Amino acid sequence: MASKNKLSTKIILMVEGIILISSILFGTVSVVRSRNAIRRSIQQRMLDIANCASGSVNGDVLKTIDEKKIGSPEYRDIFGKLEVFKKNAELEYIYSIKEISAGKFVFVMDTDPVAPGQYGDEVEFTDALAKAGKGTAAVDEKPYTDQWGEFYSAYSPVLDSQKNVAGIVVADFSADWFDGQLAAQTRDTIIGYVVILVFTQLVAALLLLLMVRPFVAQQGKLLEEKVRAESANQAKSDFLANMSHEIRTPINAVLGMNEMIIREKQRGMDLSRDDIRGTRDALANIGVYAQDVKSAGNNLLSIVNDILDFSKIEAGKLDLVLAPYQLSSVLNDLNNMILFKTQDKDLGFSIEVDPSIPDALMGDEVRIRQIYTNILNNAVKYTEKGFVKFTLNGEKQGDGNILLTASVQDTGIGIKPEDQEKLFTKFERLEMEHNSTVEGTGLGLSITRRLLDMMDGTIDVQSEYGKGSTFTVKIPQKIVSDDPVGDFQTRFEATMMAAGPYRETFRAPGARILIVDDTKINLTVAVNLLKKTKMKIDTTTSGMQAIEMADETKYDLILMDQRMPEMDGTETLHSIRASETGASREVPVICLTADAVMGARERYLAEGFSDYLTKPINSTALEKMLMKYLPQEKVRHVREAVNPSEENTASEDPSFAKAPAGDDIPELRAVEEPEGFATLRASGIEPKTGLSFCQNDESFYREILLEYANGRKEKAERLTKSFEEENWHDYAIDVHSLKSTSKTIGATDLAEIAAKLEKNASQENPDVSREAHDEMMKEYDSVTNAILSAIPKKPDAKEEQDVMEFTPVDEEILEFAPDQEDADMDPEEL
Ligand code: ADP
Repeated sequence: MASKNKLSTKIILMVEGIILISSILFGTVSVVRSRNAIRRSIQQRMLDIANCASGSVNGDVLKTIDEKKIGSPEYRDIFGKLEVFKKNAELEYIYSIKEISAGKFVFVMDTDPVAPGQYGDEVEFTDALAKAGKGTAAVDEKPYTDQWGEFYSAYSPVLDSQKNVAGIVVADFSADWFDGQLAAQTRDTIIGYVVILVFTQLVAALLLLLMVRPFVAQQGKLLEEKVRAESANQAKSDFLANMSHEIRTPINAVLGMNEMIIREKQRGMDLSRDDIRGTRDALANIGVYAQDVKSAGNNLLSIVNDILDFSKIEAGKLDLVLAPYQLSSVLNDLNNMILFKTQDKDLGFSIEVDPSIPDALMGDEVRIRQIYTNILNNAVKYTEKGFVKFTLNGEKQGDGNILLTASVQDTGIGIKPEDQEKLFTKFERLEMEHNSTVEGTGLGLSITRRLLDMMDGTIDVQSEYGKGSTFTVKIPQKIVSDDPVGDFQTRFEATMMAAGPYRETFRAPGARILIVDDTKINLTVAVNLLKKTKMKIDTTTSGMQAIEMADETKYDLILMDQRMPEMDGTETLHSIRASETGASREVPVICLTADAVMGARERYLAEGFSDYLTKPINSTALEKMLMKYLPQEKVRHVREAVNPSEENTASEDPSFAKAPAGDDIPELRAVEEPEGFATLRASGIEPKTGLSFCQNDESFYREILLEYANGRKEKAERLTKSFEEENWHDYAIDVHSLKSTSKTIGATDLAEIAAKLEKNASQENPDVSREAHDEMMKEYDSVTNAILSAIPKKPDAKEEQDVMEFTPVDEEILEFAPDQEDADMDPEEL
């Protein structure tokens, strides 16, 4: 503000200065010109007097006056007339003269009573006199001096009746009078100019003030914006430089480890059939490398998530989503996540939670997890030995709110006092010379701070350099119910032992749900994912039929695919909700979609869906969602269902299922390469990816592969038809389906080709080349042929016994494809 004022003053002074200088120059010229004009007007006045006087004199009479006529009546007559003018205060003397010979003028009569010029006395000759002698009245330009003093004279010729110069009347004006007149009038003019000048300056200053201030304010704003833009640009450049390093590191790891996997696979294949030990060794190594790929991938993902979050916050597009949540669930997940990280680094980890904190709170659970995760991750990242401790206390605030105070203490590298204030600045990483090997973007704490600002929370740090740090985060949350969170320590200890491969987190034999998806094989996937929950599952491939089924049957929940031809998920939902007699008109409907872009969740919730799940379906997320929305009386958690000896290994929390029993590697060591998987891999299908969407259930995966392959004929015909007819709407839907299901079975190359075509077919002016279409169809053929030669028969049918009756399908392909990462998902979960 001060600088803006300074700038306006500067501009005003500058403009004022220019106006002043030009006014002075203009004034000076004007004064000089005015002075000449004044001089001429004074001369004119002198002439007027002389002319008046000469006009009163009769030239014919004057001509006759000589020395002898002095005192004659004619003489006195003329004398009297001249004498009248003598009374004029301005003039000094008035007299008449005549030219007696060329250039010689003498007095005829002089009205001065004191020392009159005598007849015949010679008169001072001037240029003006010479002019008057020729008949033109004139005034002296310069003063002349004679015995009476210094004068300017006005000469007016007196003509006779023949128009000849009979004589000249001369009026003398003292030089003092003349100069005085000139000076006085010039002074008045100058004063006038000065007054005008001052007035002009004032008006100009006022106008400038009115005009310049806003102008300068605007300029100031522009300048500030420029500076801001420049510094943002700089920060962006630094950020990009840092980011490209951060992103390259995990990518290099992925590529490097992948290379090792390929070599190791080759080594394993080159071993003799009997060398079981060598083969297991190769598999174990592959497991280690794959684990590294996974962790590099996760790093990459968390970097990208940070960037996404940060850009959302920067764009003001990040809104808090307030909903009731269970604190215990958040704490469980944090515990699981950090426990393994601290174990990896041989750090101690403890968690202390005030048991009286209410469990059911209202807030943005996802963001609260993110905040705690970030400071806990940092504590682990920046600690090499010692421990990390998480403490959570609550202070009820009387207005139905509780202030959660979480502190994360570590015995890590600590932070210098001068660095502590930089901690929350975006892109700021400290001690890069020591931390260059620690991954990070410098965005985490800045995101944390901004999220806390949005929640009216705070973050503080206390740290001793070299000894460790304690970050304290305070967040006010609404209490939903007063039931306390209880004794966590004991439960957390149990989690350290909890593990094992997938197991269902609940069973609900009394529950009945409906799954709607136009792609039959997707229904197979979903049904299989849920088979161990023992629910009764109905399925349908059409929205219309779904409406009828929902009308007739009271389901406990409906899972609804979004993208379906004819009637999409949203339309189907609206009809179900609108049906007055519908048995399921009020049941929770969960939207299934691959649409994970920003705002998708809000959009679907606004349409009336109860919740939203992104494809590919993560079985943990699916079960969690079902547990949330199924009638609680129908849900039995797994712990209740298993016998007491199993109790320690089961968990109520779905995320526990993710925690590996320990090292993945021993498990892998024991596993032989399943039959046909090498063939699949050779043709670009990655069984590991496919298995991950089938709960690592090989027989389930094989079934899905076969369905995928068997569905090729019909799908290919449809694709060809819509391509030939240029029916891009249908083409886009089929290609979308091919893309996502190919990804799910692990055929990523084909999925990528299909993704490109989907994009091209969905744009306003679709542009799908025959070449690209043929390439996709060729790849599709090669993938399905590989499946058919690798998986010659269906797996043993007894595996399917406890699944509900489900018509096997011979068409379609999996649509639960990882075409977009779920932005809302915890990177750890992904
Ligand atoms: P980063 O992704 O680099 O970890 P953050 O924003 O989370 O970014 O943290 C910013 C910087 O603060 C880190 O680079 C690190 O230098 C410092 N820092 C954060 N937490 C700790 C901690 N617990 N101990 C020591 N230094 C820390």
